[in-house]
Amino acid sequence: MSKPIIALVGRPNVGKSTLFNRLTKTRDAIVADFPGLTRDRQYGTGKVGSSEYIVVDTGGLSGEDLGVDSLMAGQVQQAIAESHGIFFLVDGRAGITPADEAIANYIRGFGKPVQVLVNKTEGCNLAVLTAEFYALGLGEPIGISSAHGDNVAEAVDELIERMPETEEQQSFDLDEHPGIRVAVIGRPNVGKSTLINRMLGEDRVVAFDMPGTTRDSIYVPFERDGQAYTLIDTAGVRRRKKVSEKIEKFSVLKAIEAMQDAHVVVMLMDGSEGITDQDLTLLGLAIESGRGLVLAVNKWDGLDSDQRAKIKHELDLRLQFISYAKTHLISALHGSGVGDLFSSIKKVYRAATQKVSTADLNRVLEQAILDHQPPLVGGRRLKMRYAHLGGLNPPRVIIHGNKLDKTPAPYKRYLENVFRKAFKWEGTPVMIEFKVGE
Ligand code: GDP
Ligand code: GDP
Repeated sequence: MSKPIIALVGRPNVGKSTLFNRLTKTRDAIVADFPGLTRDRQYGTGKVGSSEYIVVDTGGLSGEDLGVDSLMAGQVQQAIAESHGIFFLVDGRAGITPADEAIANYIRGFGKPVQVLVNKTEGCNLAVLTAEFYALGLGEPIGISSAHGDNVAEAVDELIERMPETEEQQSFDLDEHPGIRVAVIGRPNVGKSTLINRMLGEDRVVAFDMPGTTRDSIYVPFERDGQAYTLIDTAGVRRRKKVSEKIEKFSVLKAIEAMQDAHVVVMLMDGSEGITDQDLTLLGLAIESGRGLVLAVNKWDGLDSDQRAKIKHELDLRLQFISYAKTHLISALHGSGVGDLFSSIKKVYRAATQKVSTADLNRVLEQAILDHQPPLVGGRRLKMRYAHLGGLNPPRVIIHGNKLDKTPAPYKRYLENVFRKAFKWEGTPVMIEFKVGE
C-alpha cells in the first residue's frame, strides 16, 4: 500500500537535484499550476512504469560531515533511516573520490538496499566509467545520465526490486473502516495534538498503531453526528501514556504517507507565528498529494486585533494561489471554529469523491468551448472532441482531441475553473489532462 521511499545520497554536484527532478517530473504538473508556491525540492513523488515511489534528496554530503555525532541527530540521518532504499550518486567523469568512499562507509551502516549510480555517463563507455566504482563495495554500479534520462527507469526498477516488502503487514485495514479519512498535518507545535483531542472529544476510541514503520501515524476511527471518520494522527497523540509526554518526531515523510491514506487533509498553521516556509513546504506536498484540502490557522484566541489583521494580510499574500481551499480561523484549545472545520471536511470529501456522468462532463465542455474557443496553435484551432472522468479524489477530467498537448496554460486553467464551478469541486485540486489523438 505505502509507496517505497528512495533516498538520494551523494556529494555536491554529482547530479542529485537533476536526478530528483527527473524522478518527480510526472507529478510536477500538479504543482506547476501554483506559481506562488516556494516549493521545497527535497521531497517528491513519482512513477516509473507501474512503480510509484517517494524520493527524498538528502542534500550534498561533503564526506567530512559524516561523523556519527554530527549526523545522528540530523535530517540526513532521519531521511536515510526512514527510506526503504538508497540511490548513491557518484560522478562518472570525476571518478572515485575520498568523499565517495566516506559516504559509502556511512550508508553501509544502515543495512538498506543501496544502488550506486554512476552519473554523467551519456556518450561514454559505460563499462569503463562504472568499473572503478565496484571498489565502493556496494555491488554493481549502474551508469546513468540524470540529464538525459539514460537508464534511470532501469535503476528504479532494480532498487525497488531489492526493497523488502514490509509495509503490507498493517494492523489497520483502511477498507474495513468506511467513512472519511482525515489527516491532520502541520509542523511541530502548531496545535495538532490539541486539535485532534478536540476533534475526538471525550469518546473512548480505539487507536490502531501501524507496526513495522518508523513513522508512527496512528489511525483512529470515530463517529460524529452520524458520520464515520478515521483520523490519521501524525502527532501520535493517542499513543502517549501521559498527557505531558511528547513523542512526535516531526517527519515530512510521515505527513506524506498520512496524506496518501487520507481523503481530506487538514493543514494546520500557527496564527501566533504566521506562515512559515516549512508551512509552505507542507502545503506544496498537500497540493501534490491531490487530496481534498482544508486550511486552519490555529491559536486565534491568543491574538489581538493587530495580529489578526496582520495574519489575514499574510494569508492573502502568501496563499492566494491556493484559492480552492477554504481557510478556517480556529482555536483548538477552546474549540472555536472546530464545528465549522467538520462541515468543511464533509463538504470537501463529498466534492472530491462524488461521481459525475460523462454526459454532464461533455455538456460542460461543449458550453465552455462555445463561450471561449480554444486558441489557435500553429495557425490551427485546437479541437477538443470529448471528455471523460479519469478518477476522483482528485477529480481528473480527461479531454480527448488533436494536438491538445499544445494547449496553453491559461486555457487549461479556464477549463479547470469552468469544471470546478459546474460540479462544485470545492476544496480539491481539479486535474485537466489531455489525450492526444483518438
Ligand atoms: P547536486 O549538487 O548533486 O544536486 O547536483 P546537480 O543536479 O545540481 O548537478 C550538478 C551539475 O552537474 C550541474 O551542472 C548539472 O547540469 C550537471 N549534471 C547533472 N546530471 C548530469 C548528467 O547526467 N550529465 C552531465 N553531463 N551533467 C550533469
Ligand atoms: P503539536 O506539536 O502540533 O501537536 O501541538 P500541540 O497540540 O502540542 O500544541 C503546542 C502548544 O500550543 C501547546 O502548548 C498547546 O497548549 C498550545 N495550543 C494548541 N492549540 C492552541 C490554541 O488554540 N490556542 C492557544 N492559545 N494555544 C494553543
